[in-house]
Amino acid sequence: MIYSKNSEVNSMFDIVVLGAGASGIVAAITAKRNNPSLRVAIIESMPIIGKKILATGNGRCNLSNLNTNSHNYFNNDFAQRIIDKFSVEKTVEFFNSVGLYTVTDNEGRIYPMSNTAASVVDSLRFECERLGIIIITDEKIISIKKTDDYFVLGGRHRAKKIILACGGKASPSQGSDGSGFDILKSFGHSVNTPLPALVQLISDNKIVRSFKGLRVKGNVEIFAENEKIGATDGEILFTEYGLSGIASMDAQRILCSHLKDKKCSVMIDLVPEFSKEEIRNRVDKLIGVNPELKSENLLIGFLPKKISKGLIKCAYVKDNTPISAISKDNLNKICDLCKNFRVYISSYKGFENAQVTRGGADVNEFDKNTLESLKVSGLFATGELLDVDGGCGGFNLQWAWSSGMTAGISASE
Ligand SMILES: Cc1cc2nc3c(=O)[nH]c(=O)nc-3n(C[C@H](O)[C@H](O)[C@H](O)COP(=O)(O)OP(=O)(O)OC[C@H]3O[C@@H](n4cnc5c(N)ncnc54)[C@H](O)[C@@H]3O)c2cc1C
Repeated sequence: MIYSKNSEVNSMFDIVVLGAGASGIVAAITAKRNNPSLRVAIIESMPIIGKKILATGNGRCNLSNLNTNSHNYFNNDFAQRIIDKFSVEKTVEFFNSVGLYTVTDNEGRIYPMSNTAASVVDSLRFECERLGIIIITDEKIISIKKTDDYFVLGGRHRAKKIILACGGKASPSQGSDGSGFDILKSFGHSVNTPLPALVQLISDNKIVRSFKGLRVKGNVEIFAENEKIGATDGEILFTEYGLSGIASMDAQRILCSHLKDKKCSVMIDLVPEFSKEEIRNRVDKLIGVNPELKSENLLIGFLPKKISKGLIKCAYVKDNTPISAISKDNLNKICDLCKNFRVYISSYKGFENAQVTRGGADVNEFDKNTLESLKVSGLFATGELLDVDGGCGGFNLQWAWSSGMTAGISASE
């Protein structure tokens, strides 16, 4: 049942879920399944439900990950407790129960078997319709008041309990514009400063920018000043502004809260397949075989030519110098750069490009078993609205499903 804003709806509900994103839809389904006699509604500001889900995983929806554990999350203890209740296994069972089957790639990432995110949204929508959940679209709620007996949403809908599932501030074109934070603040909740996370890194390094368009698979260590604060690996895409690709976005998530007051950098191992000594042996072999080769080609056996040329430049060697004329010290430096290529980060892209929000409602103000507010009884919160975020690879959607199921069950008891 889908109603648009101006439809006549008998506006007294047992549960209203605000936001038809990943966590909200699953919360509504779980609540209605757990207690079919309840009147459950979802109110969504966008014209359709699940708009962001359609964009996930490049349209394929990386909906979970077999390797999900607390290390994947900020505020990991809180996240883990909820994920333990509604685990990856239970999530896959849930999707099977709405008729959606999944496949897992060799890195543990779980996708719909159809390989399309639209199947995920359709399966969830069909289940909402089958259960008789009322879906009201095109209606943005900006204020909620509480009387002794019920909540009043936007002045016209009444609900005994509410589940706030409005998301954070990432990707506002898909509806999550931070208005959920304002609603929570109006109830006296604390909101930790939201920052864009899983977003591209900006660097002023001209050599890095000259690698624009090239991709490498590498290991990345992350530094705030001289302290190593994390590590990641995977694809790095060089761009005209700095770094993109999964490893760079994961690195951004780790350094985002440090960049304001510390000089941050990433150290990239551009050739993880070989140790520095192995690179040096191969370089020496090439010099023996082809001593007149121009130095810009020294590393093309391992790396794209533009990167080979860039690293030679970093070592202050002219690119037309014959490789046999490069000093031992400089050869050493070049091999070292292959393994330890440091890129200073000046900033990162904004919420428009971000996949997730770091920050949000303080988790200490919510019951860690039910997700009910400790300040306002009958109010629950899920997903990105809470200060929990995970790395790339299906961890954020897993958090959305697990927190949605927890709030749905708790609110319907
Ligand atoms: C491009 C992109 C790709 C991604 N890919 C992946 C991936 O492959 N795997 C993964 O795990 N994670 C991925 N993520 C992250 C993941 O999509 C989110 O973490 C997850 O969707 C958050 O779910 P949520 O329910 O908390 O919020 P959202 O999905 O943001 O849903 C919130 C909903 O609430 C509605 N809403 C907000 N405010 C109001 C209001 N005041 N009144 C009414 N309605 C309101 C919004 O319109 C929205 O529909 C991706 C994110 C993006 C942007």
